[in-house]
Amino acid sequence: MVPSIEEGRIVLIANPVSKSGRGAVAASEAARLLRERVGDGRFEMLTTAWAGHGESLARELGPDVGCVIALGGDGLVNEVVNGLMARAPQDRPVLAVIPVGSGNDYAETLGMAYSVPTAVTEILRFQTVRADVGRVNGRYFAETLSFGLDAAIALDTMDRRQKSGRAGTMLYLESAVDQLFHHLQVFSFKMDVLGAEPGCAPHPEWDDAYLVAVQVGPTYGGHFRITPKARLDDGLLDICWATPELSSMRALALLLRARGGKHTGSDHIHFRRASSLVLDFEEEPPAQMDGEPVHGTHFLIDCVPDALTVVVGQR
Ligand SMILES: [Mg+2]
Repeated sequence: MVPSIEEGRIVLIANPVSKSGRGAVAASEAARLLRERVGDGRFEMLTTAWAGHGESLARELGPDVGCVIALGGDGLVNEVVNGLMARAPQDRPVLAVIPVGSGNDYAETLGMAYSVPTAVTEILRFQTVRADVGRVNGRYFAETLSFGLDAAIALDTMDRRQKSGRAGTMLYLESAVDQLFHHLQVFSFKMDVLGAEPGCAPHPEWDDAYLVAVQVGPTYGGHFRITPKARLDDGLLDICWATPELSSMRALALLLRARGGKHTGSDHIHFRRASSLVLDFEEEPPAQMDGEPVHGTHFLIDCVPDALTVVVGQR
């Protein structure tokens, strides 16, 4: 049984190379502020040294830790969530996020501030909610799992970022335009919804889509509100898929509308909620989970309800 967030130790897990090295500066600032506020004895900073390291650090946190703060982007959040989910439910400390990543969709969902001092103040208010976690083929995701066009854009953006050292919305849009106008393709998929809302078709059939997104929270790809009504605490995953026939221009227009969650009225956009589903693809599509690549054609997906306690900000 972990101690309460007010009494337990606070551990900061920081990714120093997040956002092209800005993570290191943000981490030392956050560490200084947290030490001042809670005292040396109650605070510790751990830094990740390789991809995936955050997972083992979170899994092996001591029993006296009441709160773990992930300082980085969605990739680090994903690692920490996988580490926490490897622990028994009563042994999972509260999760908080200080957004210092290229993608900060989970922090956005939690309403966290982007300034480090404000985020630290928000965390020390200890305002928490319970949150569901998604699971795909035995791995966990905090916010998003998606296949097809948007995953191709997300992965291509990451590739461009690593090659150029640039970041931001422009890079994402460049990548989006390239994918939409030069690589727009449909993926043949079959969705077998198991725990669905009443009124859903019981028999899955093969269908074509540009993208399929399976969401815990409402956003992906840097604050695109793909499933604007998704809730963290309803025990259900929000699914959105986009079907043909769309020209590159219309697809781009829809993508831009999705930024504000205004794509939902289109005849090409479909929604469903489910607690579990099976997704099959004829060919391996580009796929991402919290911004990290995923591989395969057969995906067992479910919602783990009420899995974590998370700190929320003031937005
Ligand atoms: Mg939900």
